[in-house]
Amino acid sequence: MISAATDAQLRFEGMFLTPKQANALLAAPKFHVYDNPEAFLTCNYDPAKALCHPGRDPLPGTLKTPAIDRCNPACANVARTDTHIAALRGEIARLRQECLEPATPMPLRERLGQRAKQLNKLVEQHEWTRPTDREES
Ligand code: SF4
Repeated sequence: MISAATDAQLRFEGMFLTPKQANALLAAPKFHVYDNPEAFLTCNYDPAKALCHPGRDPLPGTLKTPAIDRCNPACANVARTDTHIAALRGEIARLRQECLEPATPMPLRERLGQRAKQLNKLVEQHEWTRPTDREES
């Protein structure tokens, strides 16, 4: 995603694209980037790695786009920015607060706690694997 953003900035920043140039941009696999804020991630769509098309045998044409409603967080196409992580931290705090509410039933508390733990693992994974400034340049 960093590479796509850098290339897009270098090639297109400040430009008005002709329809032909815009089509060329849309056809470049590198720029097939889909934001998925509900899943706290960006999909850098490579159909060969997509876990949302596990059968690789969908209806004709559907492999051209990811099925973000079936996004699998283990997919190799996932990228997260610090903005996604900030949103994740907010969601974790919200879940933990809901766990503490006296009106929250016990079974729901357990599920909310599990969800918060699961999301926290994504934050930790991001912290361990995020590129440093040195790697980006
Ligand atoms: S599983 Fe998620 S990240 Fe992977 S291709 Fe599908 S939508 Fe994109």
